[in-house]
Amino acid sequence: MRCPFCKEDRDRVVDSRSSESGRIIRRRRQCLVCKRRFTTYEKAGESFKLYVIKKDNMRVPYEREKVVGGLQKACYKRPVSAEQVQQIADKVEEDIFRNFDKEVSSAFIGESVMRHLRDIDKVAYIRFASVYRDFKDADELIEEVSQAIQEEKRVKQPKLFEG
Ligand SMILES: [Zn+2]
Repeated sequence: MRCPFCKEDRDRVVDSRSSESGRIIRRRRQCLVCKRRFTTYEKAGESFKLYVIKKDNMRVPYEREKVVGGLQKACYKRPVSAEQVQQIADKVEEDIFRNFDKEVSSAFIGESVMRHLRDIDKVAYIRFASVYRDFKDADELIEEVSQAIQEEKRVKQPKLFEG
């Protein structure tokens, strides 16, 4: 696999695992020349690299670590386990590969992370959203926060009436 950083074609596989459905195999590779790490994916026996199109239209290699890093930051001191963070990253990758083959927009990744994070922890979700979704003004952020709080209440309420 050609290294996305220095373009040399010598690497070793550091880690290899398949997605929940087993359709996608993710391989973590290290370039033997520049020592940087990158990830390749295999779908239906075909190995490829995924690229992310950023807001400024720059194409960069997709890095799972960035998704995980963003999640960890959002989940700091929240009751979200490292395993849950990995599970969210898995779901995000499932979303990506269900919809795209070789290129995906950073906006799609951000939305997907938010959708899955919202199910797990509302506070972490708000933190993540405030960074990734450019709230136009404070009102928009407050609107989002109060919606999340309302949902939280709806989820918790039934417990009040339990024996
Ligand atoms: Zn390299």
